[in-house]
Amino acid sequence: MNQDSGYDVIVVGGGHSGCEASLAASRMGCRTLLLNHNIDNMALMPCNPAIGGPAKGNLVRELDALGGEQAIAADFATLHLRWLNTSKGYAVRTLRAQCDLKDYASHYMLVLAKVPNLFVYQAMVSEIITDAGSVIGVVTRAGEKFSAPRVILASGTYMSGVVHMGLTSFPSGPLGQVPSPEISGSLRRAGLELKRFRTDTTPRICRHSVNWDALPLQPSDPAPDAFSHWGRKKVHEGYFCAQTRTSKKTHDILKAALGRSPLATKKLGTAGPRYCPSIDDKILKFPDKESHPIFLEPVGRHSREIYMQNFSTTSPPDVQLEMIRTLPGCERALMIRPGYGIEYDYVDPTQLEPWLETRQVKGLFCAGQICGTSGYEEAAAQGMMAGINAALSLKGREPIVLGRGEAYIGVLIDDLTTRGTDEPYRMLPSRCEHRLLMRHDNADDRLCRTGRDIGLLDDAKWAAFEARRQAVSLERERLAAFKIPVCDRTNSILRELGSSPLSEPITAMDLLLRPEISWGALTRLIDSELAPDLGTKIEIEAKYSGYALREDRRVRRLSSMERLRIPDELEYREVPGLSAEASEKLSRVRPRTLGQATRVPGVNNVDVQLVQVAIERARRQGESARGGAGPPR
Ligand SMILES: Cc1cc2nc3c(=O)[nH]c(=O)nc-3n(C[C@H](O)[C@H](O)[C@H](O)COP(=O)(O)OP(=O)(O)OC[C@H]3O[C@@H](n4cnc5c(N)ncnc54)[C@H](O)[C@@H]3O)c2cc1C
Repeated sequence: MNQDSGYDVIVVGGGHSGCEASLAASRMGCRTLLLNHNIDNMALMPCNPAIGGPAKGNLVRELDALGGEQAIAADFATLHLRWLNTSKGYAVRTLRAQCDLKDYASHYMLVLAKVPNLFVYQAMVSEIITDAGSVIGVVTRAGEKFSAPRVILASGTYMSGVVHMGLTSFPSGPLGQVPSPEISGSLRRAGLELKRFRTDTTPRICRHSVNWDALPLQPSDPAPDAFSHWGRKKVHEGYFCAQTRTSKKTHDILKAALGRSPLATKKLGTAGPRYCPSIDDKILKFPDKESHPIFLEPVGRHSREIYMQNFSTTSPPDVQLEMIRTLPGCERALMIRPGYGIEYDYVDPTQLEPWLETRQVKGLFCAGQICGTSGYEEAAAQGMMAGINAALSLKGREPIVLGRGEAYIGVLIDDLTTRGTDEPYRMLPSRCEHRLLMRHDNADDRLCRTGRDIGLLDDAKWAAFEARRQAVSLERERLAAFKIPVCDRTNSILRELGSSPLSEPITAMDLLLRPEISWGALTRLIDSELAPDLGTKIEIEAKYSGYALREDRRVRRLSSMERLRIPDELEYREVPGLSAEASEKLSRVRPRTLGQATRVPGVNNVDVQLVQVAIERARRQGESARGGAGPPR
């Protein structure tokens, strides 16, 4: 692509959100420019190089189904893979991959380099340029100007970043990167409100200095598996994680150094993630707890570094090392990088439309950690949706806003844009009220059609999806007709599985409905050529069918309210009876639909009913102004 040609979309920042945004926009035919301040450090993982886990794994599967890249990058880089929550219901089972951070980043860099329409350029953006309320381009620190009608800001934890270690603080991006000090001012001048969050990370220790023999090791799951449905499942061998624990000795060291702790001395008061507290926070807030588990996890094939999951800290480096050496197996540990906390500016996400465009500046989209989230998966999901919607708006098409009953991505963006967040927002299964419907196994059924319609699923992927769907459907029919014979062998296997023996033949599908009969167990009784993950899908659908039907009805009932559009010109101050609080909150968030209005904090059921009456009145007034009742809705 010609470097000097005009661009349709500029993406600022090549982290997880910026990479997905650039790929989505360019694959949808937009001439896209991706600007990153150091092109050697794209898709950098400044925290644990782990992808997936509860709810986050669902986001990765959904990205894959829409045609995004993160699942493929994670599969390419996976060192260690586990299914989590296997003792719980299928709705919350999820994959978690410990990745090689360099392999993950280099996968993105290779793909970005190959996509037509996409040009990657090294530059630090210092200003977003606007004209008459619309974005028109960006200016770099070197004074270069790039123009485009759509700009996606994905600058992560870099905006006015300040790192804290003990009582020392200095301007910095994460992992020793350069911060991005100028954009915040430019956004404020454009009318956006910025706030400040904090996130912490752990020290890294040298692999060779750990006494692994003293620790319980966690190997990878033995069965071949992967996040993406477009590649092959792999076996992951040779890498392991291990568990150690803090003790009273660790806690005493931290307590003795409280005078040098930025948290205890209140030097650092910015909100950090409550669900992922630092070890300092845990020891201070739960003084009676005598021990906390710590997981030691590899960060790469060619790296000596070990990440210490659950040990993020802002204590001074000497205190960190002293604490580390109290952990079993780490008595002689060498600390390669100290942990730290980083404060940064973010854009209050209630200023964004549900398609991630700012209300203040037309054509300016925001995605990733600058919208108040934390996590590679949350960032990638927003980046992809911002890229898709920037591209759709240039084509004059309606934006894609995924529903809360359709995808975790929908829940994530609805929560951010409707409720905002007062701490770095992380996706959790509990945030998703329809999680029975939104599982790992059915992400393709929910989202491949959308990915195909917008041009992100190519012919090969679409054919693979259709083939899998067909195979499942044929096998389902076969199982519904196949009678399991009553015989000694059948009943002895059933007894072994803790299931009642058969007195008369039943269909394989009926047998699969028994809670103790898994797909694997069923295939001991009948032969099947279906891939095991598709067999498990049939099992999950069979076992969940009753709940799923009820949940589906609930989503449909709610969807009429979800779809009821609130006129853009509705003046909440003029809605009779509406409380002052509701009026103020609704005027600020400006929900697009009545469903969204129900979730704005401070808005109660009575307020919602009053808004519904006002919508109805506005509709009738519109009709009488047009001179007729019009067709019924
Ligand atoms: C210390 C720390 C701890 C964390 N802990 C966790 C955790 O425990 N769990 C978890 O899931 N996540 C954690 N994260 C979060 C995770 O790293 C981020 O959520 C994720 O990286 C955000 O992705 P992003 O694409 O939004 O931004 P980033 O990955 O931060 O990428 C932003 C990119 O934009 C570039 N950039 C910034 N400003 C400019 C500019 N002006 N011009 C050009 N380029 C620019 C940067 O160079 C960078 O490449 C942590 C992050 C940090 C820093």
